[in-house]
Amino acid sequence: MKKEQLYSGKAKTIYKTDDPKKLVVEFRDSLTAFDGKKKSEAARKGYYNAQISRKIFEMLEKEGIKTHYIDMVSDTEMLVDAVEIVLIEVIPRNIAAGSITRKYPIKEGTVFKKPVVVLDYKSDEYSDPMLNEDIAVAMGVATYEEIAQIRSMALKINDILVKYLDSKGFLLPDFKLEFGRKDGEIVLADEISCDTCRLWDKSTGQSMDKDIFRFDKGDLSKAYEEVARRIVPEIFK
Ligand code: 5GP
Repeated sequence: MKKEQLYSGKAKTIYKTDDPKKLVVEFRDSLTAFDGKKKSEAARKGYYNAQISRKIFEMLEKEGIKTHYIDMVSDTEMLVDAVEIVLIEVIPRNIAAGSITRKYPIKEGTVFKKPVVVLDYKSDEYSDPMLNEDIAVAMGVATYEEIAQIRSMALKINDILVKYLDSKGFLLPDFKLEFGRKDGEIVLADEISCDTCRLWDKSTGQSMDKDIFRFDKGDLSKAYEEVARRIVPEIFK
């Protein structure tokens, strides 16, 4: 079913399938940060992220969120709908961390009274600059209606995920979403995993996400394994 490679990104490779409306996404062990300037590999990272992402997509689907996820084709490969990716990185923020604390006078750890949704232009060439609606529409990356829908879906996903991850012992300071167009409809695409979320252990405050790699904070594979143990315990039986 899986055919030739369509595209290889920094952490995932996309393959065509027999069906032009479906693609296979392979989660790899490679890691990059800072627009690809820092690179490494982490054992079993692709496996843990694929399984965590699968579980979260399944959970969101049950909650009424449409996603590109169809099925797993192997431990590290996901069958998805072929969507047209909207070139906007949508970042719901609940607790200040990362770039927002560097760009604005907001202290790390500040709990936002309501989630802050940041839209960035998905472009390594321009280093993902922040967008507003007018710029996004002027560039032709989305319509006002699509942006309104994307914001509303992002807030709903954030609500669901904060509660879900709280029940697993995590805080969710922020995370990155990507959306796609499928038959004229906006659906959640890409992945939701330790690579795309900030996850802090609720009792220790420790990072259990890609910040471990970005800022050399310890053993990434071990932390991702612990996240997988809490979210997808069934894969350890
Ligand atoms: P920040 O804006 O602080 O760099 O990132 C905010 C959140 O979005 C973090 O959880 C981070 O992991 C995620 N994020 C933002 N941009 C990217 C990106 O290009 N790739 C990945 N994997 N995550 C991103």
